[in-house]
Amino acid sequence: MTFKELGLKQEVLDAVASLGFVDPSPIQQEAIPQLLETERDLVGLAQTGTGKTAAFGLPMVNQVDFSSKTTQGLVICPTRELCIQISKDFQQFSRNFRGANIVPVYGGASIDTQVRQLNRGAQIVVATPGRLMDMIKRKRVDLSQVSYVALDEADEMLNMGFKEDIDAILENTPNDKQTWLFSATMPKEVVRIAKNYMDNPIEITVGTKNAASKNIEHHFYKVNDRDRFHGLKRIIDFEPNIYGVIFCRTRRETSEVADKLIKSNYSAEPLHGDLSQAQRDRVMKAFRNKDIQLLVATDVAARGIDVDDITHVINYNLPDEIESYTHRSGRTARAGKKGTSILLLNTRESNKLRFVEKIINSKIDQKKFPTGKDICEKQLMQLIDKVVEVEVKEEQIAPYLSAVDEKLKEFSKEEIITKFVSAEFNRFLSYYENARDINDDSRGGSDRGRGNERRRGDRERGGRDRDRGRDRKPRSDRRERRGDKDNGGFNRNVEGESTTLFLNVGEKDFSDKGHLIRVLCQEGGVAGKNLGKIRMMDNFSFVDVAPKIAGKLLKGINGVEIEGGRKMRAEVSNQ
Ligand code: ADP
Ligand code: MG
Repeated sequence: MTFKELGLKQEVLDAVASLGFVDPSPIQQEAIPQLLETERDLVGLAQTGTGKTAAFGLPMVNQVDFSSKTTQGLVICPTRELCIQISKDFQQFSRNFRGANIVPVYGGASIDTQVRQLNRGAQIVVATPGRLMDMIKRKRVDLSQVSYVALDEADEMLNMGFKEDIDAILENTPNDKQTWLFSATMPKEVVRIAKNYMDNPIEITVGTKNAASKNIEHHFYKVNDRDRFHGLKRIIDFEPNIYGVIFCRTRRETSEVADKLIKSNYSAEPLHGDLSQAQRDRVMKAFRNKDIQLLVATDVAARGIDVDDITHVINYNLPDEIESYTHRSGRTARAGKKGTSILLLNTRESNKLRFVEKIINSKIDQKKFPTGKDICEKQLMQLIDKVVEVEVKEEQIAPYLSAVDEKLKEFSKEEIITKFVSAEFNRFLSYYENARDINDDSRGGSDRGRGNERRRGDRERGGRDRDRGRDRKPRSDRRERRGDKDNGGFNRNVEGESTTLFLNVGEKDFSDKGHLIRVLCQEGGVAGKNLGKIRMMDNFSFVDVAPKIAGKLLKGINGVEIEGGRKMRAEVSNQ
């Protein structure tokens, strides 16, 4: 089936052609005619990377009247990155319509600029829930004439706690609008939204419900927690051309893993919410340009990343919401390409494996970490391929050759080859010399065996470290960090009595106490000396503060938008 047969206007067909889309994808084939021909609501389920944006974008652009200035279409999506991506896509789709104005509305950027853009008359608004609610409250956006609402990545929006915002936003839209909901998975909450807000919707499912792409190979490796990083390095070293995303569970873990990779000379960068927007944009640009090979990211920061050609997704640790696994693995195998998704699991996590298998509806094969010898062979071949293919700049190199010739004249051809290969390759050989087996096939494991392994383990330097022995450092780092958490660092006592506050943010939102303290001081307008002991859990925290500033602090921080548009909430704890 062609785009033309779907019933789209010529302007839209031309735009699609200039994007290089030849044929519509399966979800587009099924959804577009329905959205053009019927007035019914629609639920579209298809895995990531299957072209859902165009599946609702093309029919929305096709039906909006661009000669009018009223807002007729609304797209709601979970993150800033996705919001920008979708509005760019929509701007492409509508490029042949005069007067088309697609406006992105998202948190963390100037609201005034966005208001100005809206005032010029936006026929379609693409928004994240938090900022859009703000605009509605300030009466800066008029949704009373909206005919089409698309909820993109509905499952993610619910995961991120946007349920109430979405409820409130939809109340501000007319009853007779059409609601289109797109999602990769169909958890109960999405079913609930579909029931609540939609009137007998058409349901389109492409592929198995909640299933992942057939183009993705899923593998898992069993590893002890203390070998997780070694395991990661082995996998990367065995794939010299890897172009991948490594997912971690928290911001802290993300920056730790990225730091260690960078120190070992890997081409890696972290991407998480503690970075400024400019930093994040820079990292994304470098990754997109393939200036860096590995992106180490949190789920939230990597949401909406639409980079083709990603070869591997590595789950350094599984996400808390296992459903997010399909979002992670969906970063690879985009646009019909193939990809690999890898899980590192310790013995205790075996039960999670079954859960992931259920979600992707297929069995996941166990793989063994490559041995040191496997890796050396692979790297050596890669080096030789590089030598064979290297482009020789005859003219530039000519002036140096006679001196080189002089130095090497006493060696035979064979000797020279061996020496050049060794010069480049010795560091790999010494890394993986004595490399032990890090596959963890123990069921519970015997302590004696482990002790043995550890002793041998100390010899393994691993990685692309030029500086032998550097790998030992993290051990003392780790100790320092632990100390910091338990007593030193920010765990000070506020003088006199203190009030304990409960905050709905934790390690998942802020990489460390310092970051949380900065936010509290800035947003609450209080001095750091008024803050005392801080206990951060994954999802929430307790902070002791001087009673005299508690009220001011609460007022300042309640409702502050954090990454993803979620609102910070704080109250006096009665624990
Ligand atoms: P999803 O929202 O389902 O995860 P996207 O809408 O982000 O997927 O599309 C994934 C990629 O596929 C994008 O790079 C997009 O430009 C491309 N794409 C979408 N539709 C087509 C098509 N019909 N032909 C070729 N490429 C397409
Ligand atoms: Mg999408």
